[in-house]
Amino acid sequence: MIGGGLAGLSSAVALAESGFRVRLFEKRPHLGGRAASYVLPGGEHIDNCQHVTLGCCTNLEDFYRRADAAGKIKFYDRLLFAAPDGRRGVMAASVLPAPLHLAASFTLFPLLSWADKFAIARAMLAIARHGGRPRDLWPADSSNDAGEITMLAWLRKHRQTERAIRRFWEVILVSALDEDLDRTDARHGVNVFWKAFLSTRAGYRVGIPQVPLGDLYDGCKQSITRRGGEVLLRAGVRGFRVSANRIDGVDFEDGSVGTADYYLSAVPQDILPELLPGEVVAREPAFANLVKLRTSPITGVHLWFDTMVMTEPFLTLLDSTVQWVFNKTKLYGGSAESRGQYLQLVISASYGLLPRSRQDIIALCLKELRDVLPATRDAVLVKGTVVKETSATFSPSPGSDQWRPAQNSSLPNLFLAGDWTATGWPSTMEGAVRSGYLAAEAILRDAAMPGKFLQPDLPPEGLARLWSRPS
Ligand SMILES: Cc1cc2nc3c(=O)[nH]c(=O)nc-3n(C[C@H](O)[C@H](O)[C@H](O)COP(=O)(O)OP(=O)(O)OC[C@H]3O[C@@H](n4cnc5c(N)ncnc54)[C@H](O)[C@@H]3O)c2cc1C
Repeated sequence: MIGGGLAGLSSAVALAESGFRVRLFEKRPHLGGRAASYVLPGGEHIDNCQHVTLGCCTNLEDFYRRADAAGKIKFYDRLLFAAPDGRRGVMAASVLPAPLHLAASFTLFPLLSWADKFAIARAMLAIARHGGRPRDLWPADSSNDAGEITMLAWLRKHRQTERAIRRFWEVILVSALDEDLDRTDARHGVNVFWKAFLSTRAGYRVGIPQVPLGDLYDGCKQSITRRGGEVLLRAGVRGFRVSANRIDGVDFEDGSVGTADYYLSAVPQDILPELLPGEVVAREPAFANLVKLRTSPITGVHLWFDTMVMTEPFLTLLDSTVQWVFNKTKLYGGSAESRGQYLQLVISASYGLLPRSRQDIIALCLKELRDVLPATRDAVLVKGTVVKETSATFSPSPGSDQWRPAQNSSLPNLFLAGDWTATGWPSTMEGAVRSGYLAAEAILRDAAMPGKFLQPDLPPEGLARLWSRPS
């Protein structure tokens, strides 16, 4: 297994549990890949960026259970939104069944007008009535291809108001898919709404780790080593050896060579072609086309204040550059009496911030925080760090799914995992774990050993279940 992110780890744990002796090689000194944490020179543990899961992420939940980390994730069912004028709105489920569970808080939501709400309800109905697959995106007659349109074009087609787009659809989808609405495939956007907000009552619940991300993976290592496997850090792979259309070894950066019955690549999509011989990449479209998967950025801003500035665990900002504010002190269980406070701000699809300086970005964030968290006006910023991930995720742009290869490759003993492989999911931790489980199942099939790891989606409930039955 090459790569110790969530794709490699989930596959490794699944195969170790199935009786394989797994050797996992990770280039960095820690596990977790993009969903990792590290220690700053001052001793603070910081996540590469805040990572959240949703109630609908069934495979990630299963993986955390296998890795003995499920108890370290806390789920929240109350979402708090803040506008720059200081007003706030809450979304929380009532006792009504899906897809009406959020209807009451939506009706009372003060940051949208009635015209916005009617427009949103109409689009939601268009999604829900067809079990999450509206006919204009998934035509009943598959020969009549609906074409690939952007989420923004689909919203305009469904007559959404500008404020509904800005204060509702954009707020949720840009963070969930890490892409602007005019660059997002409408099918991915609609899928998020169906799975997270419409089909079940629990799908929208936000799960946040109560520990630094790196602490979630201790159980994986134990699960692999207990069964005779190995997890090697600072163990970069330089390349795969290919002969007679099969992998017959890997060259490590330290000059050694390793061989195995099966090889699993769980590295990002831009790294894999560098590890394969040029002629293999050139002749296999699945490898050659990986350059066509574009990427999008995420910027994380870490701020330490001398005093408490926020009481809520997290907050979603409307009409602002900053999209989410996480109260890390509270999320890590810091007491209300803690003197200082550590906040982590997240900006997805942060194209506009890439050319800006660190000081500039911190100044912009502080200005926006003053509107929504008045206590920051008098607080002293003790320290600030900006982490720009220029290629945080692959961009779920229209047509991008055609460049995502399956977990079986054209080299019979090489299998692929990674959030960018064909999973049907966008670039998320759930997508990475799905790919890991699918790759493990593919290896088991090849070894003629039955095994199933992929978890089904949460079954639709209430009216959503009725509407999702095939007509
Ligand atoms: C800033 C940011 C915020 C995000 N927020 C969220 C979120 O809130 N929720 C969510 O669900 N998802 C989020 N994501 C996406 C999520 O992190 C990824 O989808 C997921 O972690 C990808 O896992 P992976 O295993 O496919 O790839 P990676 O995590 O990239 O793992 C690949 C691994 O391969 C290793 N590797 C590379 N080359 C070699 C080599 N030659 N030899 C050995 N090892 C090698 C790398 O070091 C790395 O550890 C975020 C991503 C970023 C960057």
